[in-house]
Amino acid sequence: MSQALSTNVLILGGGVAGLWLNARLRNAGYATVLVENDRLGGGQSVKSQGIIHGGAKYALHGALTGSSEAIAEMPTRWREALAGRGELDLSGVRLLSDAHYLWSPGTLAGNLTSFFASKAMRGRVDAVKGAQLPPALQHPKFKGKVYRLAELVLDVPSLITRLAALAGDGLLAGETLEPLYEADELVGVRVDGREIRAQRIVLSAGQGNAELLRAFGQSQPTQQLRPLHMVIAKGPALKPLYAHCLGGGPKPRVTITTHPAADGQWVWYLGGDLAEADGVARDEAAQICAAQEEVAALLPWVDQSQTRWATLRVSRAEPAQSGLVRPDNAFLTDQGRLLVGWPTKLALAPDFADRVFAALARDGIQPSQHPALPLLPRPAVAKPVWEELLP
Ligand code: FAD
Repeated sequence: MSQALSTNVLILGGGVAGLWLNARLRNAGYATVLVENDRLGGGQSVKSQGIIHGGAKYALHGALTGSSEAIAEMPTRWREALAGRGELDLSGVRLLSDAHYLWSPGTLAGNLTSFFASKAMRGRVDAVKGAQLPPALQHPKFKGKVYRLAELVLDVPSLITRLAALAGDGLLAGETLEPLYEADELVGVRVDGREIRAQRIVLSAGQGNAELLRAFGQSQPTQQLRPLHMVIAKGPALKPLYAHCLGGGPKPRVTITTHPAADGQWVWYLGGDLAEADGVARDEAAQICAAQEEVAALLPWVDQSQTRWATLRVSRAEPAQSGLVRPDNAFLTDQGRLLVGWPTKLALAPDFADRVFAALARDGIQPSQHPALPLLPRPAVAKPVWEELLP
């Protein structure tokens, strides 16, 4: 039988939420163990577009709401961490773009133009032209308006690799998890037969939270899944582009991010409205056709003759929406030793960790000495999806 362990905080699920929390707790002196049942980041995190939103996207209807202000501090917190002087030392994580762009293929609705120029958005949205345009839009045939947002785009695989390094010896690959009770009280978890006792257990397993909650006999909180059908394109003529292309509505018509493939080519990753309801209803071939038509209409000067295409189905896992939950805050709730939540966005991993820290402070859970951990079987980091789908 494997050696029993004890720790301050046991984290179940090693996506960005669990890994960021784990690193913050360790920095603060807490003993932690993080259990992952597959590959680190392999749920939604490595399949995300890596945009560190500051909320501008949610203001596309032409006004800033209270909730879009709540996410506004995230780009600054991430920038500090990437510079190695923030709450975590993320130096070495690859920054793909220092800005994300809003791009309108035609003229912008009058109310949006004046809103972007308004005091509320000053310093967050700037119109750009000519050499300041993203490389893929620098073409004589390009017509339209482009605004630069003070948001970042990260290489998520390098982020997950760095967060895994910050976890030190505290990562455990484990397949079978069962709650461990003592006198009817939850005291820990048995992982592949090994007992792990903890003062607090955090469920940060993304979509896997639903099954874990069932295993812990909990019916709340309920989870909602928002399916997406993303498109991946890889070819020698693709140049970097990080932009929401505006249609007429409050959601981007298409959101394109660009990622480095191991063979030196660029990969375009297409989401936004293209990947939502109508896109989910299409089969792979029809979704690729829809993406090709969108790209031909918006960027007709890009030679796609050697581009290869694939699609990826993935769901966003979130708390079922209620009046209490804003889509641009992390969500955390707790009952006894069990804390459960979803960051709702990669960008909001710091907010998720803040909420766990607040719950620990409220309950007087302080860092305390624990025996050193033995050598544990370590989960691997997930590979970028384009390397698997378009090698
Ligand atoms: P996950 O990344 O899903 O991690 C959960 C982990 O738990 C996984 O590694 C899984 O294997 C593990 N697990 C599951 N069950 C168990 C179990 N029983 N025991 C142990 N481990 C378990 N957000 C942004 O801010 N910017 C973006 O640009 C962006 N783009 C996105 C694009 C797409 C296509 C999608 C789907 C999401 C995007 N998001 C974006 C949202 C973002 O990806 C998620 O909010 C975030 O990654 C969730 O992180 P997480 O750690 O909660 O979950």
